[in-house]
Amino acid sequence: MNIRVSAVVALLLLPIAAFSVQCPLPPKGGKGIYQCAGCGTDLFRYDEKFESGTGWPSFWQPVSELNIKLLPDNSMGMHRVEAECSRCGAHLGHVFDDGPPPTGKRYCINALALRLAVKEKPKYEKATFAAGCFWGVEAAFSEFIGKGVVSVTSGYTGGNFPDPTYKDVCSGKTGHAEAVEIVFDPKVVSYDKLLDVFWSIHDPTTPDRQGPDRGPQYRSAIFFYTPEEEKLAKESKERLDRSKKYKDKIVTEIVRAGEFYPAEEYHQQYYKKQGIKPACRIK
Ligand SMILES: [Zn+2]
Repeated sequence: MNIRVSAVVALLLLPIAAFSVQCPLPPKGGKGIYQCAGCGTDLFRYDEKFESGTGWPSFWQPVSELNIKLLPDNSMGMHRVEAECSRCGAHLGHVFDDGPPPTGKRYCINALALRLAVKEKPKYEKATFAAGCFWGVEAAFSEFIGKGVVSVTSGYTGGNFPDPTYKDVCSGKTGHAEAVEIVFDPKVVSYDKLLDVFWSIHDPTTPDRQGPDRGPQYRSAIFFYTPEEEKLAKESKERLDRSKKYKDKIVTEIVRAGEFYPAEEYHQQYYKKQGIKPACRIK
């Protein structure tokens, strides 16, 4: 082996030191994006990483070809394609044509050039409110879909009767209230904000009644899921009582959430399906 060849071999072996540098992995089931350690530009998705057997973090495609600049690299007596960060010019690694389908590319990247940004699965919470006819209540909360509210479902809760039908609940004898179950992302919309909406769409001072709708199924109620929700609900009720907005006392029940039974399909998004504006809502 002449000196020149052994120098090349030594240089080729150099990156092996980086073998021990594992790139960080997202927590189980989580998703992550590998960003440029230098400037934070998104480079590769964790989902598009594969085991190449080289010890180097390997990806079959970048997040965007715009984010990676490819340059010919004729160093070390080889013709290779160097990959660098388009934004800050940091050296990332090399790209080879022996990767898996569908691209056939292998982006062979130095772990030290990457940092992992973990996308946490949002933790959703639930809120359930009864404020009279659920058609209008559902419509009011549906306005927040995409703004922190993930879903709103009309249904029945608070009674002692499994799987009630609309007819059962209408009899007023099942103990259930017409209610809506809201799934929300507390990082985007707070429970307090949902409480504000709840108070604003009905009259919480009329026992078992909202406008023309009468019966225990139309009672005003907050069904809490956590001690924190219970506390916030009680505080907001006290605040509203103290504000003297109503001449009568607030009669809203604040009780632990029990089984929620989604209403029949034709009740879901009722106003939207009918193409009419919510009517049974009191502002
Ligand atoms: Zn960069």
